Amino acid sequence: MGLPHALILPYPAQGHVIPLLELSYFLMDDGFKITFVNTENNHKRLLANMSKKERNIKGINLVAVPDGLESEEDRKNLGRVNDGFLKKMPIFLEELIQRSNESGDDKITCMIIDVSMAWALEVAKKMGLRAAAFWPASAGILATMLSVPKLIENGVIDPEGTPKQQIFQLDADMPPMNSNNLVWTCFSDPELRRKLFNYMVKSIRAIEIAEYIICNSFKEIELPAFIHASNIIPVGPLLTGKRFGKPIGHFWPEDATCMAWLDEQPANSVIYVAFGSFTIFNQIQFQELALGLELSGRTFLWVVRPDLTSETSDAYPEGFRDRVMTKGRMVGWTPQQKVLAHPSIACFISHCGWNSTLEGMRNGVPFLCWPYFADQFLNQSYICDVWRTGLQMTANDSGIITREHIKLRVEELLGDKTMRARALELKEIANKSVIKGGSSFENLKSFADAMK
Ligand code: UDP
Repeated sequence: MGLPHALILPYPAQGHVIPLLELSYFLMDDGFKITFVNTENNHKRLLANMSKKERNIKGINLVAVPDGLESEEDRKNLGRVNDGFLKKMPIFLEELIQRSNESGDDKITCMIIDVSMAWALEVAKKMGLRAAAFWPASAGILATMLSVPKLIENGVIDPEGTPKQQIFQLDADMPPMNSNNLVWTCFSDPELRRKLFNYMVKSIRAIEIAEYIICNSFKEIELPAFIHASNIIPVGPLLTGKRFGKPIGHFWPEDATCMAWLDEQPANSVIYVAFGSFTIFNQIQFQELALGLELSGRTFLWVVRPDLTSETSDAYPEGFRDRVMTKGRMVGWTPQQKVLAHPSIACFISHCGWNSTLEGMRNGVPFLCWPYFADQFLNQSYICDVWRTGLQMTANDSGIITREHIKLRVEELLGDKTMRARALELKEIANKSVIKGGSSFENLKSFADAMK
């Protein structure tokens, strides 16, 4: 008999590709052959950031399918992107599976599909393949999405997805949420909201086809969500440490020089500042953050993605770069997992994307939370109110997080030893869950065995 062969399909975003590649490494070690499917655009970006040697990952075949959009279309427009998927990608995926199975190698035996690509579960069904859904974010958010019919019934949103009741709680033991921070309600354009809501409703229906729903979280950090939605299986955090030395699917080139720079810094001294792959700053807030870091008087490593601000010319405050030359380092993209594991890191100013949240947690790093969008607000509540491993940043009446506030919060966080102690406790709990005998490890192993 041939090897079990899983086709893995992430949503084409950085925070989805990384954990699914991590899952692929686990399955590969467990005897699976993997076909990892990116959109053509992202496939190119991934390969561009890998060495020749890295591209030949033994057991993992990186392949591409078109995303159904014209080459010049804006791939940041989620409404257009999702339309493109629904129209053409199912066919492209079917053709890929047929081609792969005709090639005579091990036939594809199952599909593991990102919940945000749940339409592909229909493809699995049509092709007679076993299928599972993978959710790269918190169980709390997935449980909320699966509860849309209940949210409508309880008057939290209307049948079109428009918020009716702002603050709601999915379960008495879960943090309160704001219906304006649901994935589709974050957008101001009503047409886009409607499209995203419909896409999500379709996805939720399609999930019913999945034999399993696995989630990159673990039961110890959000037990009420797992009790509320008992069909979600925790298998995370999917950071096995094996990724060190293996490509993890970055879209941007890593500035590896920052690691050598961190080596020169004393233990527990550097503020790491990063806002993931999507967040965009307006010019005023960008400059205020720069001045806040300067005012803190501390050393900092700040990820300034090439598209972090909409400003085309030099976005920094005048003279800033010269003034912080010895204290601060701004880079376009870091090997973030390695950065957060570095002993020099004292705290993490973060947008609270789920991957960043888990990565900080796995390294016992306390947070200053600066969420922008959707699930990042729930993640902030987990960090500040449930796990108590971080502090919230608060904007002033003009919606700006001021330099003085940044300095104050940094001092408060770094002066609070209990915060660090709790973060270290959580690190131990997280690490235990993913080693042999740990809750997530055993779930993942049972899942892999079942998919064989
Ligand atoms: N990341 C990185 N280098 C950076 C910034 C981010 O490697 O300079 C990675 C980070 O480690 C995480 C991912 O990009 O795995 C971002 O995912 P997250 O869920 O935190 O945020 P999103 O980009 O989805 O908003």
